[in-house]
Amino acid sequence: MQEGYTPEMLELIKRVEASRPERLAQSRAGKSYPAMSMDDRDVVLNAFHPDYSEEGRRALGIGQNQGEVYPEELVDLLESRSMLESVSVDVTQPDMETDVLVIGGGGGGTAAALAAAGEGNQVLLATKLRHGDSNTVMAEGGIQGADQEPDSPYYHYLDVIGGGHFTNEPSLVAAMTNDAPLIIEWLESLGMMFDKHPDGRMKVRHGGGTSRKRMHSSGDMTGAEIMRVVRDEARNRAEQIKVLEFSPAVELLMDDDGRCAGAILHNLETSTFQVVKAKAVIIATGGTGRLHYRGFACTNHYGATGDGLVMAYRAGAKLGYMDSVQYHPTGTAYPEQNVGLLVTEKVRGLGGQLLNINGEQFVFPLEPRDVESAAIIRECTGEGRGVRTPTGRLGVWLDSPLIDQLHGEGTVQRELPAKYIQFKRFGIDIAKVPMLVYPTLHYQNGGIAINDLGESTIPGLYAAGETTGGVHGHNRLMGNSLLDILVFGRRAGLNAAKSIAGGEVPGAPNMEHLQSYGEALADAGLDRGVLSPMILPNYATDEIRKQRWDVQSPVV
Ligand SMILES: Cc1cc2nc3c(=O)[nH]c(=O)nc-3n(C[C@H](O)[C@H](O)[C@H](O)COP(=O)(O)OP(=O)(O)OC[C@H]3O[C@@H](n4cnc5c(N)ncnc54)[C@H](O)[C@@H]3O)c2cc1C
Repeated sequence: MQEGYTPEMLELIKRVEASRPERLAQSRAGKSYPAMSMDDRDVVLNAFHPDYSEEGRRALGIGQNQGEVYPEELVDLLESRSMLESVSVDVTQPDMETDVLVIGGGGGGTAAALAAAGEGNQVLLATKLRHGDSNTVMAEGGIQGADQEPDSPYYHYLDVIGGGHFTNEPSLVAAMTNDAPLIIEWLESLGMMFDKHPDGRMKVRHGGGTSRKRMHSSGDMTGAEIMRVVRDEARNRAEQIKVLEFSPAVELLMDDDGRCAGAILHNLETSTFQVVKAKAVIIATGGTGRLHYRGFACTNHYGATGDGLVMAYRAGAKLGYMDSVQYHPTGTAYPEQNVGLLVTEKVRGLGGQLLNINGEQFVFPLEPRDVESAAIIRECTGEGRGVRTPTGRLGVWLDSPLIDQLHGEGTVQRELPAKYIQFKRFGIDIAKVPMLVYPTLHYQNGGIAINDLGESTIPGLYAAGETTGGVHGHNRLMGNSLLDILVFGRRAGLNAAKSIAGGEVPGAPNMEHLQSYGEALADAGLDRGVLSPMILPNYATDEIRKQRWDVQSPVV
């Protein structure tokens, strides 16, 4: 008995069960619902993808990217004053000095810390919550890397560029795809437990938009496994890598020549500010899911509030691709307690199919994420063929039981253990009944502009991971973020070390850029009295509550 679903939903699930034998036969015969043509993709994206609508977006009124149109929630933070303007902090008396300051303790930051320390530097890693509280630890499905025949970085490169609608920065894509086999090898050398065949070969799968099987995984907890090994490695080098937890950076420090010279941290436990002087700074603060653009629910951890973007922008760094956000096609739409949580693409990689209220397929299961999301939104809001939950949300079925029928009983539990437990807790056995899903805010495609050395447009300031933009263009393919954060974390760490060794170090730190930014805001008439970075989302307000409950899954 699936007591997690209402009787009405169980009744609808019978339609899924009725169409399953024929779909199973087709899958076994290697047939699938047809993929869209490029023209069809454009049509559905233009009509139904939130990025293609002007609603909820406005032009940024200040700074290097002035005039570009971004989600309003982000513009609000960028057009805001520093929380330090009214606080007295003496930057001439640093509380700490280090060679490299890494801001952010997810996968990207930890990889950067390891690389910089590996070159003989002292590293301070300051992170907002605990070391590892991050999007990295939540990643499920896998990490791409072309290390198996008949694949190569060449095909990987083409897939990334195609998936990004040919808008990616080619040098960044080349760096990522060429480094990928090395990263997989490095993770294995750190002790990562990859999924393997009995003979020891890596298990690799397709992800949306891949032309070759190159998705490496660790069950459906790939990110947790990556974080386990890189964090352990960093902790084992405690003499070189000092970790400060519950210490978010709130502003950068600059010298008189415009070189980054450190940062101010805010100790969340003592509520005091600490001045850190550093020869180089690496920002790896992750994404912006917790800004809940357009009221969408999100998959992200609680620290994903875009702090790095705000700090870097105020200091003069250029951003790129910030108009582009990734909505993951399959966020949980039911049960209510799980709304927004990710259902990994691996479910579709294993053969799970998306079905409307009639139990019919309506989209090729592995379209690029933006196309797949737009197709689900169209099916629900445009065609009126979504399934409504008791609270009025809409969703479509993701037929997971098909996986056991295709690959043998026990596959769902073995390959998707975290997802299995997540639903089972609420009385839903996903090996026996489908999940209800709807797109959820997942990933920030844009961010701080970097080159293939991990350098931002500010000397001495590097950036890595989800806080950067360019490598994925306007759409990221699954499995390329876990790769991106490690490739560019490592590159940022190595190149920061190289520039320090070359004698490129900052002079005395100051915070004058904050003053200038505040004045520019006032001159532009944009002083709304908001302070940023946000640091932690505020769920206590009526406004956010309304967004979360009313807007994410439109009621039609
Ligand atoms: C549920 C989920 C599933 C995913 N699955 C996959 C997948 O299967 N494959 C894939 O490739 N990608 C996946 N992704 C995306 C991928 O996990 C992330 O994009 C990536 O891990 C981000 O790494 P990062 O190091 O840049 O940021 P994070 O891992 O988010 O780390 C950022 C760190 O910075 C800290 N921080 C933030 N602000 C500050 C501040 N002001 N000062 C100091 N520290 C700060 C945060 O607390 C956090 O520790 C998934 C993401 C989610 C949310």
